[in-house]
Amino acid sequence: MRVHNSLTRRVEDLVPIADNEIRLYTCGPTVYNFAHIGNFRAYAFEDVLRRVILFNGMKIRQVMNLTDVDDKTIRGANAAGVPLRDYTKTYKDAFFADLKTLNIQPAEVYPAATDHIPEMIALVERLVEKGVAYKSDDGSVYFGVRKFPGYGKLAHIDFDNQRTGARCAADEYDKENVGDFALWKAWEPSDGPVGWDSPWGRGRPGWHIECSAMSMKYLGETFDLHTGGIDNLFPHHENEIAQAEAATGKPFVKTWMHCAHLRVNGEKMSKSLGNFYTLRDLMEKGWSGREIRYVLVNAHYRSGLNFAFDALEDARRSLERIDRCVAKATEGAVPAWAAARLDEFSAAVNDDLNMPKAFAALFALVRDANVNGAEGTLGVFRRMDEVLGVIFFGAKAADDIPADVQAMLDARAAARAEKNWAESDRLRDAIAAAGWVVTDSKSGQSCVRR
Ligand SMILES: [Zn+2]
Repeated sequence: MRVHNSLTRRVEDLVPIADNEIRLYTCGPTVYNFAHIGNFRAYAFEDVLRRVILFNGMKIRQVMNLTDVDDKTIRGANAAGVPLRDYTKTYKDAFFADLKTLNIQPAEVYPAATDHIPEMIALVERLVEKGVAYKSDDGSVYFGVRKFPGYGKLAHIDFDNQRTGARCAADEYDKENVGDFALWKAWEPSDGPVGWDSPWGRGRPGWHIECSAMSMKYLGETFDLHTGGIDNLFPHHENEIAQAEAATGKPFVKTWMHCAHLRVNGEKMSKSLGNFYTLRDLMEKGWSGREIRYVLVNAHYRSGLNFAFDALEDARRSLERIDRCVAKATEGAVPAWAAARLDEFSAAVNDDLNMPKAFAALFALVRDANVNGAEGTLGVFRRMDEVLGVIFFGAKAADDIPADVQAMLDARAAARAEKNWAESDRLRDAIAAAGWVVTDSKSGQSCVRR
């Protein structure tokens, strides 16, 4: 299995450091709102990565953090007048429900930042003792970037000319404003009831220290793989490296992987452009988790992904094509032509997760099976779906269709006989809303679960 390492900017073999197990840290959501489709691009990429590691017979230990204390969560909780824990619980629960909808496999550990404040304080203390962090006059603790010679190695930027010694209290900043960043933030009146006691007084952790402390707690001081969206590369991941390596003197992470941006209808997603979608928004428009997942996992993770409604239409048609073929597939001896498609698939996913090529191998299998017959191909579909997670293997017999859906199907057949296309389309949408997909052919309607 070969992957692109952002640290070396090369495609390299991914080999476990120990025990045939990849230890993976994935930056998780800030639980102040419902996650949007751009966030889910990163989580879907990480799910494919996880599945390919397992596909190859390696074991995995994946940790995904939940940021439940930061500027945004505190602002939201205090504006709503509820305790921080209650405020974030709504969005934590929604996040896990959304992962299930998208058939994203759960990580082994989901540590929440607020459950790990002592670990973060201990790491900040270590950095103060080493002389790379210092307390400022306002009671906050900053990391001195000039004290860590490796600063900038992930972003591949020589910061020497920019290291002004200025301080930056915000969690997010750009390369032009690089300066000492906050490890511990002194309590301010706007924090309200949120705060913890520390050797530097009451306050709260910075965002970056959370991931260094929790990743090392659960994965060790040096581990295999760390991922995130490209937005996380700088400053967040750069700062994670600085914090961990300055404290331990050891390499923090062997391989870093980042997925590219998602655009919606060709534009950057934003509330003002009206193209900002949560998973719930898309479900309300009648798209299924399976169709949304299909669009997210279909692109190469290092290419920009344009999320457009015609891509969802295409996903629906493609899945119907796959479903029709898989419904005919049987167990048994695998024909040589099907085994060859599986080899193509396997080579594609191991070549830096080349999903467009992997899907091409799947569709070549569908095409071949439609010509040669699908006997003996079921195991190949199942094996491919260990990575894809989009194929439906459930019951499709007519007697499994619920009575209300069957009634709509019958009404639709009658509407079509009368050439009442508007009513036919209305019923197709109603059937879709009930979780079923109807397709038309010369022999009539067929219906499968979405
Ligand atoms: Zn992180």
